[in-house]
Amino acid sequence: MKGVAASEGIAIGQARVLVPPVVVIDREISADAVPAEVTRLRQAVTATDAQLASLSTRLEAEHLHEGHLILEVHRLMLRDDTVVEGARRLIETQELAAESAVRRVIDSISAKFKSMEDPYLRERGADVEAIGERLLRTLLGLPEPSGASATGTIGVGSVLSPIDALHLPRSGLVAFAAEHGGKTSHAAIILRALEIPSVVGARGLLAAVRPGDTLVVDGSRGEIIVNPDADTVAMYEERRRGERSREGALKSGVGGPTTTLDGVRIELAANIEAPSEVGGALECGAESVGLFRTELLYLDRPELPGEEEQFQDAVAVLTALGGRPATFRTLDLGGEKLPLAVQVAGGANPGLGVRAIRFARRRPDVFRTQIRALYRASALGPLRIMFPLVSGISELKEARLTCAGIVVELAREGVPFAPDVPIGVMIETPSAALTTDHLAERSSFFSIGTNDLIQYTFAADRENEDVEYLYHPLHPALLRLLKAAIDGARGAGKPVAVCGDMAADPAFTWVLVALGVRSLSMSPRFIPAVKSIIRASTLAEMEALLAQAFLLRSEVEVEELVLGLMRRRFPLELAAEADS
Ligand code: PEP
Ligand code: MG
Repeated sequence: MKGVAASEGIAIGQARVLVPPVVVIDREISADAVPAEVTRLRQAVTATDAQLASLSTRLEAEHLHEGHLILEVHRLMLRDDTVVEGARRLIETQELAAESAVRRVIDSISAKFKSMEDPYLRERGADVEAIGERLLRTLLGLPEPSGASATGTIGVGSVLSPIDALHLPRSGLVAFAAEHGGKTSHAAIILRALEIPSVVGARGLLAAVRPGDTLVVDGSRGEIIVNPDADTVAMYEERRRGERSREGALKSGVGGPTTTLDGVRIELAANIEAPSEVGGALECGAESVGLFRTELLYLDRPELPGEEEQFQDAVAVLTALGGRPATFRTLDLGGEKLPLAVQVAGGANPGLGVRAIRFARRRPDVFRTQIRALYRASALGPLRIMFPLVSGISELKEARLTCAGIVVELAREGVPFAPDVPIGVMIETPSAALTTDHLAERSSFFSIGTNDLIQYTFAADRENEDVEYLYHPLHPALLRLLKAAIDGARGAGKPVAVCGDMAADPAFTWVLVALGVRSLSMSPRFIPAVKSIIRASTLAEMEALLAQAFLLRSEVEVEELVLGLMRRRFPLELAAEADS
């Protein structure tokens, strides 16, 4: 079965249906039973809320901050009038039992979410369903969904809700598979952070799988195999062994600095979304945090995070890094990342509308609060601030003016901060890429966000799988644009990093270093492979390859040249790539 590859890795095990959907048969009640039924509903809401509260407190105590936030949102959704009042009305007007009323209300709300165009909002339907299931369990006196106990258990479910993801991976669960869901869901984000292989959005999964069936879950390719024959199992076991030994071999050498054979020092940094990820990043060999995506703190909550909370978050990152630097990207909200607390009109093309630094201009109050928090944290460790999706110098000047205002304000208040916080710009638009020499006058450093730069260069929506065929980091147009951006920045004496996904792919390491990039920031698990390649190469041979690439005319030719060479030269580092 094909699904969405939500979290990398291969697992083989026995299926266990983790959260069977609660079956509710419509039950009518007599008119005089209505008040008691309404009371039963209210009591169930209170009891469910108490369950969520205790789980939420536990997660907070375990520093699983994202999970804690998600549960707090679920609590608010549970207590929201739409659910409780909607169900009460159905009990009163249609004389329905509480569980029948709840089932109908939840189905109707989740259907509304599911019909929304925005993939992010569509996935919020899963949150509503998760809350509904929990409330129904309480009403019907069913046990809480339990975790797996045996090793080799693969959790199978209808929806992979964030609650499921947080609850279940602790005890022997080797993978998740779910019938619904997308790559951008919170559950997928959490599972990736926990490194649990996962495939979601596998239509027909529950009909095809019985408890106890043997499953192969290939989270790298988005495949599930039900009751594979012995040869297939053997093949996947072999692939998994290969993946593990390769990861182990690469990870064993991650200590120490990263230098080419001819002495060029390259910084390898981590992209993270929460303070809890710093430890894992350091284990993978990260020297610093090159991209902290701050917007996670803004999503899925009804109110905006305050200055103090953002300050604490930044301090937690700096503390965990123990003196190593961290680059905080200011909020990249808008587009597909819409917080519950602030609604901005996306326009017909949200990716081209009010997003990132444009959102910050539109909501200076929100932006100022974040900048204040970051400056305050700068007193406690080497912190850098970076603006996303800048399209030109005027936007940059404006954002810097906000920073300057905050500096004056904090000084007047006597609040400590570092006066020389480096301020940098993400290169994610062609207009910024072509003017790095100008931007350099007001920017201490640059980091190229290739995910967005590619989307805007080829006019191909990164969320839309139908135009995924246009994603070509080695396209001559992109190589020229990268060269222009990097030359402009270096000519002005400013360092350039790459923090888009291109940096995480070992097939592109030579090209990026040859272009003049001296810092690569990526999801931590990819650091060992990239590090190993750099240490076994000379800058001279990387530059020779790039010179050849620049003579070619199509992305197909460049890919043949670069991928061909990299695969031959680094079979271990590119093994996963060759597989897929
Ligand atoms: C990018 O666009 O490459 C980037 C790193 O930012 P994000 O993926 O968060 O948009
Ligand atoms: Mg981006």
